[in-house]
Amino acid sequence: MLTVEWTQEHGWRKPHIKPFQNLTMHPASSAFHYSVQLFEGMKAFRGPDKCVRLFRPMLNMERMFRSTLRACLPPFDKFELLECIRQLIRVDQDWVPHSDSASLYIRPTFIGTEPSLGVAKSTHALLFVILGPVGPYFTTGSFNPVSLLADPRFIRAWIGGVGDYKMGGNYGPTIYVQSEAAKQDCQQVLWLYGDDHQVTEVGTMNIFMFWKDQQGDMELVTPPLNGIILPGVIRQSLLDLARKWGEFKVSEKVITMAELIRGLEENRVKEVFGSGTACVVCPVSRIFYRSKFYHIPTMENGPEIAKRFLKELTDIQYGRIASDWAQPI
Ligand SMILES: *Cc1c(COP(=O)(O)O)cnc(C)c1O
Repeated sequence: MLTVEWTQEHGWRKPHIKPFQNLTMHPASSAFHYSVQLFEGMKAFRGPDKCVRLFRPMLNMERMFRSTLRACLPPFDKFELLECIRQLIRVDQDWVPHSDSASLYIRPTFIGTEPSLGVAKSTHALLFVILGPVGPYFTTGSFNPVSLLADPRFIRAWIGGVGDYKMGGNYGPTIYVQSEAAKQDCQQVLWLYGDDHQVTEVGTMNIFMFWKDQQGDMELVTPPLNGIILPGVIRQSLLDLARKWGEFKVSEKVITMAELIRGLEENRVKEVFGSGTACVVCPVSRIFYRSKFYHIPTMENGPEIAKRFLKELTDIQYGRIASDWAQPI
């Protein structure tokens, strides 16, 4: 693991790479009491050439930096941190699976270790990074579509809040909602927002819809980064890829449940899927909303676009096709 301590008195101390071990912390640490905490999620991939690569890692460093400022934790050098993470992976490179579908998950974490119960800016902090190999999200090449609970009583993020930062406090409260979804035979939560029931995210993934819009044009649409959407690295990458393809409209705009249902009724919705580092893309097959299941024909439609995204992105991640998005460690 990598650990780097910071104190107001001494600034950043020397980074350490050491055997995985427990942390020793003051019981009053602000991370425990006030959720002065943030994290990142990224992966290292081993290609057929044995080379280990990171996928657009500076996007994670930049997002972590934004979260850091919002949490009033001390700023760090994004390039230095990435260099520390590279060094950690080099030390542990045997843990990067020799596989075309498994990878090494990387969890940078930054916590306030202020040893005092006052709600105040931390004068002590700890940045650490842990690693662990992860298997393929989907077994043997076939997509596993998910069903979603869309219940407007539960709200993940709101305008003016911190839903667009990867802070631990955004995630703990979702476990209960996730268990409510399980009770309704759903695997994930579709997070709605506002009186018009805007579709925002699915579980801890961004959401995409591929449909024929009201004018009859094929369109890929995902909600805009308006403060309640986590700016996903995969979200950005899918938008970048689709715009490069240039074969259909690509939009960042609000989608409401009413629009989605109308699209379904008029047979215009082709695919709905989540996006994130864990799965790249995850098809959605049904949504439980206002005591009714709505079938989403994602799987019946290939899913052509989701499959194409998965292939193109994993080819880049594993270095099977050349791209400056994949960076050797
Ligand atoms: C991490 C996360 C995502 C996906 O981000 P990626 O960088 O693409 O992995 C989407 N939504 C939420 C709420 C998240 O926490």
